[in-house]
Amino acid sequence: MPHRSAYEPTADRRTQRRLALDRVVTPEMQRVAEREHLTGEQVRAEVARGRMVIPANHHHAALDPMGIGLRAGVKVNANIGSSPTTSSPAGEVEKLTVAEKWGADTVMDLSTGKDLDETRTAIIEASTVPIGTVPIYQALEQVKQPEDLDIGRLLEVIEVQARQGVDYMTIHAGVRLEHLPLCQHRVTGIVSRGGGLLARWMVHHKAENPLYEHFDAVLDICREHDVTISLGDGLRPGSIADASDAAQFAELDTLGELVQRCWDADVQAMVEGPGHIPLDQLEMNVRRQQQVCQEAPFYTLGPLVTDIAPGYDHITSAIGAAIVGWHGTSMLCYVTPKEHLGLPDAEDVKEGLIAYRIAAHAADLARGGASGRRAARWDRKLSEARFAFDWNAQFDAALDPATARAMHDETLPNDHFKSAEFCSMCGPKYCPMHNFRDVDWTQLADVVAERKRGRQAT
Ligand code: SF4
Repeated sequence: MPHRSAYEPTADRRTQRRLALDRVVTPEMQRVAEREHLTGEQVRAEVARGRMVIPANHHHAALDPMGIGLRAGVKVNANIGSSPTTSSPAGEVEKLTVAEKWGADTVMDLSTGKDLDETRTAIIEASTVPIGTVPIYQALEQVKQPEDLDIGRLLEVIEVQARQGVDYMTIHAGVRLEHLPLCQHRVTGIVSRGGGLLARWMVHHKAENPLYEHFDAVLDICREHDVTISLGDGLRPGSIADASDAAQFAELDTLGELVQRCWDADVQAMVEGPGHIPLDQLEMNVRRQQQVCQEAPFYTLGPLVTDIAPGYDHITSAIGAAIVGWHGTSMLCYVTPKEHLGLPDAEDVKEGLIAYRIAAHAADLARGGASGRRAARWDRKLSEARFAFDWNAQFDAALDPATARAMHDETLPNDHFKSAEFCSMCGPKYCPMHNFRDVDWTQLADVVAERKRGRQAT
């Protein structure tokens, strides 16, 4: 369970953005300041500028507020959710518990299938981290086929979820009819569920995306409950071959326009990003988003830096995640080993989160600032314990103490090995850290000087 301050939610029903613009430092901003080692005024200024969001729905009673933005530490989101064939409300609450235990900063409930309201209510009641959703999934459950969706139903679902306490929602309003020809001949077409549904709807009805056409109505609901809008990237590339193409960047331009519309309506906004991007295009993608979207927080899925490793996509994507985090992505949506293959279970959630905590931490180290200094202190603490051969302290400082201890104890389980100056990797004779510590370094200067004198004499 994360540390909780004596935090009392603000009773003011204005959004965090409106309050920040009115120069109010809310309890939520104060709590974020405490967690990020910033001042309340610094957080307020970032929220007012739109560079930080605090997803904090008025109805989410158990929330411990957190901030997503350039001046905060890099955050990690974990997706959970049932599918029509697998899981239950209790199973999803279990995944939420695993996600919180392993350090998820936010959790998205992407449930499809039965009992959606029941599952979401159970998740929100149990959750101290912000909960995100993609409302079009629930709307689709209520109709026979995607073509039967209409704006009335979409708005109704958004409103129901907002009243339940959902803190942020992915709204795929940036997929425009005019963008669709740009992705018609891609290797992997459209890989976003929301983007795919809306594309099918637009072509069938020969009409513009209803979420774009009625975006003001979406904003009205989000403002009332202070739901942060996460502008979905429905045309994100789903393969390395499609990375950074015209469709992706046409949608990004629309997302930039929608960020401004969110801000004008006092609604907090962040922007979702790709997907599958090779290493050499990662920095460019972050810079372009920051420029087009006026530094609204960037929230990326991975990105995967290669397509060839199904079963290991927590690794292919954590590589990309660390690099985009370094260059300015504010939140990393995790990818589990099951990506592209099946619905993750609790063990997959843990594997994905560990990979992404490492990526976020590596990015914090590279970014510097208050989060970078905090991250560096953690690295130093572990390294000092390692060099002192204080194995218990090293395990305690590890990201996953139980795994570190178990791996060590596989070969050297006895207690007296907890201060041994070696492990089974190199053994006592070869252990370089032991050999280094064994040297009488006080004699070094004399030894070097003597050698020098000897060379000069010959
Ligand atoms: S034996 Fe090798 S791996 Fe083990 S502590 Fe020494 S240097 Fe590190």
